[in-house]
Amino acid sequence: MRIAVVHRERCHSRKCGTECISYCPRVRTGDETVVLGEDGRAEISEELCVGCGICIKKCPFDAIDIVSLPEELERPTHRYGQNGFALYGLPIPVEGKVTGLLGPNGIGKSTSVKVLSGALRPNLGVFDHEVEWSEVLKGFAGTELFDYLSRVSAGRMKVAVKPQYIDQIPKVFSGTVRELLEKTDERGALGGYLEALGLSSLADRTIGTLSGGELQRVAIAACLAREADFYFLDECTPFLDVYQRMVVARLVRELASDRPIVIVEHDLAILDMLADTVHVGYGTPAVFGVVTRPKGVRVGINQYLEGFLAEENVRFRDHSVVFEKRAHTKGSDRQTLFTFPKMAKTFPAFRLDVLGGEVRRGEVLGVVGANGIGKSTFARLLAGAETPDGGPVESPIRISYKPQYLKGDTSVPVEFLLRGATTRFDSSQFQHEILEPLSLGPLLQSPVDTLSGGELQRVAIAACLARDADLYILDEPSAHLDVEQRVRVTRVIRRHAEGREAGIMVIDHDIYLIDMASERILVFEGEPGLSGTAVGPFGMRDGMNRFLGNLGITFRRDQTGRPRINKPGSYLDREQKSSGEYYYYTGDEEQSSAR
Ligand code: ADP
Ligand code: ADP
Ligand code: MG
Repeated sequence: MRIAVVHRERCHSRKCGTECISYCPRVRTGDETVVLGEDGRAEISEELCVGCGICIKKCPFDAIDIVSLPEELERPTHRYGQNGFALYGLPIPVEGKVTGLLGPNGIGKSTSVKVLSGALRPNLGVFDHEVEWSEVLKGFAGTELFDYLSRVSAGRMKVAVKPQYIDQIPKVFSGTVRELLEKTDERGALGGYLEALGLSSLADRTIGTLSGGELQRVAIAACLAREADFYFLDECTPFLDVYQRMVVARLVRELASDRPIVIVEHDLAILDMLADTVHVGYGTPAVFGVVTRPKGVRVGINQYLEGFLAEENVRFRDHSVVFEKRAHTKGSDRQTLFTFPKMAKTFPAFRLDVLGGEVRRGEVLGVVGANGIGKSTFARLLAGAETPDGGPVESPIRISYKPQYLKGDTSVPVEFLLRGATTRFDSSQFQHEILEPLSLGPLLQSPVDTLSGGELQRVAIAACLARDADLYILDEPSAHLDVEQRVRVTRVIRRHAEGREAGIMVIDHDIYLIDMASERILVFEGEPGLSGTAVGPFGMRDGMNRFLGNLGITFRRDQTGRPRINKPGSYLDREQKSSGEYYYYTGDEEQSSAR
């Protein structure tokens, strides 16, 4: 079984020689395997296509994908027309449970949710007639989803959604935080949420003036405060620090006690503690996606990291992602790149103290600490963009900085933007080490202001690394990236540091990413919004202990070596806190029966 997808936005038959038709061997023998449809775009017959792949290579706009489907797939749940994206399976919302949806971008997570929320009536891959709900329900007869979809079809399913891209909110709402939240507060829960999410002091601010992290928390509060039969939260963690992520996880779990909640989450440490079960999504982005049957959260995440789904017998990655059980000490033979002095910076309402330290050539330095604790200020001090209290830093170094909040408000194409950042764009090194692993090829001609959040993030990372600099600082590169992309970004960063003998600082709140990327850690501690102190860099073990000790969070290891957040107050949590081992705990590994 084969699926042929024509990416509509990239198919321009008037600008090409319709190579997909003229080179198709089947067309040459007289079959109508590829034709131009009424809208002037290529139409490929999946019955006639033999999958030779010639049209894919000949299309000048990369508009065609033809992919073999895993054998055991039956009919799709929904297909966006002939040669459109096809979704197989659906997540199953369960009362009293948090169901996670784990998988790459572009494999139909949002489409699934549109179906579950009644916004999209699925067509079961049928286009020759209008598919009515009765036919859909017949297709789901005898499945766990039958009752649920019956309610959806009767219009009796009220859904509350936290959208993925929160930056859209200010475009449709211009009032204050309080005005927005009062509208959505159907459960009378507003006061509690404002308090728990640290939003009380923002209540009278207008939505348009909020930072990304503030907007994220407002959007979460707005969703959770609704009275609904089903809640869906699409990526809660971007722009939130670890403490805030834990608070959100607790609020979601509390609400889930008597209603179904489905979440999409790419921060796996948080997903692990938040979800009861996960459906893994796999497939080829923008071509087809399969949502698996539910798996226990520990098993599902481990299979995902391994790149192999045992029940489905599907391998989707050729290597597995593993975590070091012991802190590594690789950096000791590295040379010093630069030393930063003890310094301070005082603003009217905030003071940053930097204790001083060094950055080494070729190392990736993880930077951890709450939002509003001075991380960006520190970066600006190093770059000479901000002057420390006593006078300027002696020799500011060249810094290439990727900010946390990306603008993307230019209409120039991605390639133009990247060529402006480097003269090495055409070098094979740039192609192999930056463009390919970040999958930027298909985006090069796209105007920057049409990119999705995840696409813009990858472009911004590429642009940052493209520039010549002594120190690269990436502020929250994980935001809006799926797990696959996080893993690839980690590899790109490490290689770049080694290859250029540069230093790279990665500021992030995804503990797994920090663990995978870093050799040492710089820790920011203090009172967010009031004062911060930059201590370190430390080795991984001391740094993690210091940072997690401040947060009061401990991790245990499961038998694959993956760190899992301990339940606060549990036996291990107490034991590890008393022995001071917050992350690299070497006690008994978790039993396979747990969860
Ligand atoms: P995810 O949420 O996993 O990122 P989506 O469900 O948003 O994935 O989209 C999966 C694919 O479906 C997209 O890559 C896109 O090609 C296609 N798609 C989404 N919406 C539509 C639509 N309204 N019409 C046609 N194709 C669509
Ligand atoms: P982080 O990057 O850790 O989130 P920042 O360095 O951006 O934190 O900010 C730390 C604190 O310093 C915040 O309370 C912020 O409001 C304040 N701050 C940052 N820049 C300035 C400035 N130019 N003037 C006054 N206050 C500032
Ligand atoms: Mg989506």
